[in-house]
Amino acid sequence: MSDFARRSSGWLLAISLIALGFSLVFGPEIGLLVLSAQLMLWLGFHLYHIGLLLRWLNRPAPGRIPEGYGAWHNVFMSLYRRARKQKQSKRKLASILDRFIHAGEAMPDGVVVLDEYDRIEWVNPMGVEHLGLDPITDVGNQILNLIRQPGFHTYMAAQSYSQPLILRSITPSERVLSIQLVPFDTTRKLLLSRDITQLERVQTVHRDFVANVSHELRTPLTVVGGFLETLSDMPTLDDHTVRQFLPMMLEQSRRMQSLVEDLLTLSRIENSPRSMQQETVNMTRMLDTLMVEAEGLSQGRHQIKLDNTCEHWLWGNAQELHSAFGNLVSNAVRYTPEGGSITLGWHAMDENRAVFSVSDTGIGIPREHLPRLTERFYRVDRGRSRGNGGTGLGLAIVKHVLARHHARLEVQSEAEKGSCFSVIFNAEQLTEAEI
Ligand code: ADP
Repeated sequence: MSDFARRSSGWLLAISLIALGFSLVFGPEIGLLVLSAQLMLWLGFHLYHIGLLLRWLNRPAPGRIPEGYGAWHNVFMSLYRRARKQKQSKRKLASILDRFIHAGEAMPDGVVVLDEYDRIEWVNPMGVEHLGLDPITDVGNQILNLIRQPGFHTYMAAQSYSQPLILRSITPSERVLSIQLVPFDTTRKLLLSRDITQLERVQTVHRDFVANVSHELRTPLTVVGGFLETLSDMPTLDDHTVRQFLPMMLEQSRRMQSLVEDLLTLSRIENSPRSMQQETVNMTRMLDTLMVEAEGLSQGRHQIKLDNTCEHWLWGNAQELHSAFGNLVSNAVRYTPEGGSITLGWHAMDENRAVFSVSDTGIGIPREHLPRLTERFYRVDRGRSRGNGGTGLGLAIVKHVLARHHARLEVQSEAEKGSCFSVIFNAEQLTEAEI
């Protein structure tokens, strides 16, 4: 029996006994009168407390539980305890929800929660950025009205969410997004978006690279193969024809050889650890070597000058630096017509920087090509580059080597006038010359 029922039955018993006592002493009328008066008081007591309870239930605040007497005291106390417990668990739930919201907001992927009618319930900041949504006005709107791309509509209609959807340029920026819908809670869905622009770019570069290498190798291989076929079809080998074919075959095989060598250099630089072996590089000796190489390549067709005014040496990988500088020198020789001049320079730029430069009075490069020069296989004039033994990889090698030496390449060039390729080294790569 509950405390309330026990106390109530006790009161009822007491009231009845008092009324019985009165009726025995003063007669049944008086007894009845006393009984009614007591019942009225008892009823009033309970009505008063019921009133208090109703008033509190209308605006239940745990801090304002009414004071009760007798059995009602315990009723109100247990109400108070319950309300306090509820408030605590509400606070706990709110903090869990807050943490989930913060976690969702911190996610590097876009997250949109959709209700059963595909209306937006919640979207995190990355989802807003990826899908071009408005975090305030778009909530409650159908996602299909906001993302108009037909591919997205088909994806939503198909309801087969195992594969992600690739969406391009959903916002004004040139983005590529991978969209994935994840159903949950029987009717709702999570729409996840991931920016795969960079990944796509890498894949495209990789595809282009393989296609370019295949193309570069196919041409000389076809030429050599053609010559060999012609020779093998001849009933007897004619010495004159063989002598005619051999230099051409040799040229093509050299072309393949330099391409493979450049590819290996590039791959070695790309794959070797970032912390390469560094040493002091004697720039006086380096410039002398480059001069000898330039003269060897030029075969007396150009005037080659040296302008060395810097006292610093470099701190870096001599082999890599030689490969990068050598490519600039080789380009200057190959793209400067006979009679032109080429100058190798090593100067202090200011207190903290020094610059290695190769300038020529060659064919120059039209301005629009300058930003793409260091891309692999990028050439201003394909025919001319191949004609002088170029592989299209020289400046790509330069770019990688310089990145590893925290150096910067600057190109100044004017078509028909000449070019100047400058490599700027920071203080951290400069060392004092050793005697
Ligand atoms: P390539 O093997 O074709 O010379 P590079 O990567 O070394 O390849 O150079 C890329 C392109 O930049 C060349 O094809 C050429 O068009 C241009 N280029 C590089 N250096 C010079 C230069 N000194 N003068 C004119 N054009 C140049």
